[in-house]
Order: sequence, then structure tokens, then C-alpha cells
Amino acid sequence: MSNIILFGPPCAGKGTQAKLLQDKKDIPQLSTGDMLRAAVDAGTELGKQAEVIMKEGGLVSDEIIIGMIRERIKEPDCQNGFLLDGFPRTVAQAEGLKQILAEMGATIHYVIDFHVPDEVLIARTENRVNEAIAAGQTPRKDDNPETFAKRLETYREQTLPVLGYYKQTDGDHVVVEIDGTQPVDAVTKAIEKAIN
Ligand code: AMP
Repeated sequence: MSNIILFGPPCAGKGTQAKLLQDKKDIPQLSTGDMLRAAVDAGTELGKQAEVIMKEGGLVSDEIIIGMIRERIKEPDCQNGFLLDGFPRTVAQAEGLKQILAEMGATIHYVIDFHVPDEVLIARTENRVNEAIAAGQTPRKDDNPETFAKRLETYREQTLPVLGYYKQTDGDHVVVEIDGTQPVDAVTKAIEKAIN
């Protein structure tokens, strides 16, 4: 059983790896970004609020996000483990997660830290836009250069301290550093090796 946090900047490959590992390990991907996009598509009140924040590259409030994870993580399919993708993004969310897991008698086992330099992230987001257009799809609204720069800034200011939090706090978790510039396959192998 593995309770895993995939940690890293936007476009580091967390979502790609979460999907691959979800199938291989039979544990669900819990992506707060996907949950928010579903709320935007459904036109809910939360979706309307989140849409504005996401377009600006900011963060949706800790209270809302922690509430979403609290509901999702208690579902039966999470009993054998889960892959957190894009959560926690603030130290307050990490504290909230700790409390939720304590209530369930669970803990985090691995924090996978994706290392990818900014210039690679920027090139990847440009690619993602071009691929979406080529496939006749609408690119993610927050993949444009201005919003992406803001997302990187938000990551550095509010999310990077979460890594320090896991490095400094005691618990069952191990922080695993992964070179996220490697080909997708190699990244998956490196993660599988670390979590076995
Ligand atoms: P992602 O798909 O993980 O890149 O998330 C897209 C956007 O959704 C982010 O830029 C934030 O605006 C919002 N978001 C996703 N996860 C969180 C979170 N854990 N806390 C706050 N905002 C989030």
C-alpha cells in the first residue's frame, strides 16, 4: 500500500506519471486541478469562482481544496493507496492533509519531488498548447505564457515551502528526488524503483 504525493512545478510531468502509475499500481490519481476543471465545466458556484483564480495562475482557497480532498480520500478506492497530484500546494494544505489522514489512521509514505528547470517547463507548456491545437482541441486557458509565468511564481512562493515541510517533519514518509527531464518511461521506472 502506497500513499504518494507527486510534487513539483506546473508541467513537471506529475499528471502524466500519475495516470501511468494509477494503471500499473491500481491506485487512484487524485488531481485537485482535474477536480476544479470538472467544477468549471459543470458551471457550479465553486467552478465559477475557481475559473477566475485559475486563469490568473493563483491558488483556490485552502479551505475549499482541503474540503475536496477530505471527501475524495475517504472513498473506498483510496483504501489501498492514492497518488496526490497537485496537492498539497501550501503548507496549510499539508497540515490539513495530515489531520485528515490522522482521522483515518493513515499517513503519507512517499513524496516524489520532480526536478525540472524553468526553461524546460516553459518549452513543455508551449508544446502542450501546440499539440492541443494540432489535435483540434482547445488548449488549457492557463497554459498561455503570462499565466504560466504567474503559475511558476505561485509555485515558488507558496508551494515550494511544502517540500521543506516534508523534509523537516517526522513521519513515515520518504522524500524521493527524481530527474523529471528524463523520458517519460525512465521517470516511471525511477518512481517505481523508489516506491517498491
Ligand atoms: P493543475 O492542473 O494541478 O496545474 O492545477 C491548475 C490550477 O488549479 C492551478 O494553477 C490552481 O489555480 C488550481 N489548483 C489546483 N490544485 C490546487 C491546490 N491544491 N490548491 C489551490 N489551487 C489549486
